[in-house]
Amino acid sequence: MTTLLDSFVRSHIPSSAEALRGEVKAFLRSWMADRPAHVRARSWSGFDAAFSRALGERGWIGLTLPRDHGGGGADAFTRFVLVEELLAAGAPVAAHWIADRQSAPLILHYGTEAQREHFLPRICKGEMYFCIGMSEPNAGSDLASVRTRAVRDGDDWLLSGQKIWTTYAHKSHYMIALVRTSGGPQDRQAGLSQFLVDLSLPGIDIRPIADLTGDAHFNEVFFDEVRLPADALVGTEGAGWAQVNAELAFERSGPERIYSSIVLLDAWVRHLANLPNAAEHEARLGLLLARMAVLRDMSIAVTARLAAGESPATEAALIKDLGTELEQDIPREIGEALAADPSAPPDEELLRTLAFVSQVNPAFSLRGGTREILRGMIARGLGLR
Ligand SMILES: Cc1cc2nc3c(=O)[nH]c(=O)nc-3n(C[C@H](O)[C@H](O)[C@H](O)COP(=O)(O)OP(=O)(O)OC[C@H]3O[C@@H](n4cnc5c(N)ncnc54)[C@H](O)[C@@H]3O)c2cc1C
Repeated sequence: MTTLLDSFVRSHIPSSAEALRGEVKAFLRSWMADRPAHVRARSWSGFDAAFSRALGERGWIGLTLPRDHGGGGADAFTRFVLVEELLAAGAPVAAHWIADRQSAPLILHYGTEAQREHFLPRICKGEMYFCIGMSEPNAGSDLASVRTRAVRDGDDWLLSGQKIWTTYAHKSHYMIALVRTSGGPQDRQAGLSQFLVDLSLPGIDIRPIADLTGDAHFNEVFFDEVRLPADALVGTEGAGWAQVNAELAFERSGPERIYSSIVLLDAWVRHLANLPNAAEHEARLGLLLARMAVLRDMSIAVTARLAAGESPATEAALIKDLGTELEQDIPREIGEALAADPSAPPDEELLRTLAFVSQVNPAFSLRGGTREILRGMIARGLGLR
């Protein structure tokens, strides 16, 4: 009998994948040297097109895609090493992040050969960016109730409606949008399809929304009878629900749900290193590091399942839930530690980094699926509901 424990039996990153780590670290040392911690803390919401192109030149975008589509032909472990080094350094990966993580695998699996040939090499070069058009004002957790609609007009489609919270829509070339092509919200999962929407088309209005920190990285996107060509449909008409669930599995299976506060943790460790009474903080730091180490091991175990061609959606949801809890506890714990030790005031850089992560962290357990939704998935995956 297989049990949940089997999913997390300790796996190791093979030495062939570890071989990339030194090269990535050296590359990041030169790119990241003069970037302060409060900038690096933006991590995967930091947008830098030049950085993405430089990664593309090294073959580090689309690392697991087939070589004949411009990818690196590497395994999931090699990508794990690359991604965790990028996140640990707080590299500005936002420009290519969504295309690399989920749009390209989606196009590879469900796209036509012409779509693969057009999009994948450009994504791998770090020249074409994508955003995710799933959420709508009344359809966030409940995606089956999306109302944005595409209707046939000759060979074309006319797209009308609204998406919201669309990360970097204002800087992306394409959105992969989940929309209704038949029926109504009462039909739930039936009648949904996915489209590759060229965001430069007439009839599209993109309006940035500022978050608590004052950054404006996500948007409202309005479609007013946007004319899409027949080949904008990706995959099968009406099969959007199955496709979007596969896409969400790509989104949740990486190591990025552990490391969102790691730049802050690093900055605090450097602060502690200068304190005569650092030992007083050992227990607090040790607990955070122990949790991170366990989650990292669990994430490597999930990577092993991906490398074996499986789709460990329940385990990925479990890691995201526990991972975001840790990411949210880190700023709270550090804030408490600093407040409890007024004899050792932190430098301005640590304070700015703490302020940023404290303001942004409530979003960690919303983006990519809320805590309640993930726990529902875990319960279902375990056969509890
Ligand atoms: C930083 C950030 C970036 C994002 N980027 C994107 C993006 O690029 N593209 C995109 O499409 N979306 C994006 N989102 C949207 C995100 O996916 C949604 O916010 C999320 O899915 C929740 O949807 P909602 O905001 O409509 O909340 P709702 O679904 O209205 O949920 C409100 C509350 O009710 C709870 N709830 C809802 N349903 C249930 C249920 N059945 N059982 C128990 N509790 C429930 C939720 O857990 C939540 O606490 C982003 C969000 C954030 C914060």
